Order: sequence, then structure tokens, then C-alpha cells
Amino acid sequence: MNLIRLLALAAIFWLLYRLILTLLSKGRRPAASDTSRPADATIATVVRCAHCGLHVPQGEALKSGDRYYCSEEHKKEAGSGTSGGS
Ligand SMILES: [Zn+2]
Repeated sequence: MNLIRLLALAAIFWLLYRLILTLLSKGRRPAASDTSRPADATIATVVRCAHCGLHVPQGEALKSGDRYYCSEEHKKEAGSGTSGGS
């Protein structure tokens, strides 16, 4: 009978342990999601060069109006070279 009491005690301790872990993880959740979000955002935010079609991270792309360019040259070429369209 000792074994059954031991198992019951173990089950109670295990449940308490899980309850504490759940409470702790709930408290930590915002921080954990904050660390994973920026990585997702940088992967998702890729823009296409309006001149050559190259895909570049938005952070490295040059923005002109509502268009993005991979380099300063393409931004200039697209802005002045082609027929005027503002
Ligand atoms: Zn380009």
C-alpha cells in the first residue's frame, strides 16, 4: 500500500509542478513572443526593386514614394531615366 500512497503523492506534486510551470510561462509569454516577432518581421518584410525586380530586405531597400529600390543607382535611373511619371 505504500507504493500507491507514494504514487498519489507523486501525482499531486507533478500536478502542482505543472501548475507552477503554467503560471510562470503565462507570465513570461509576452517577453517570449517579443523575441520571436522581430525575426519573423525581418523575414517577412522583403520588398522588390521597382527597377530590376531584385528582392531586398526592407531595411536595406531605398524607398522612393511608394516604390522600393535595391540601390541608389536604380532609384535614380527609375526616377529620372524613364518617361516622366510622378
Ligand atoms: Zn534594382
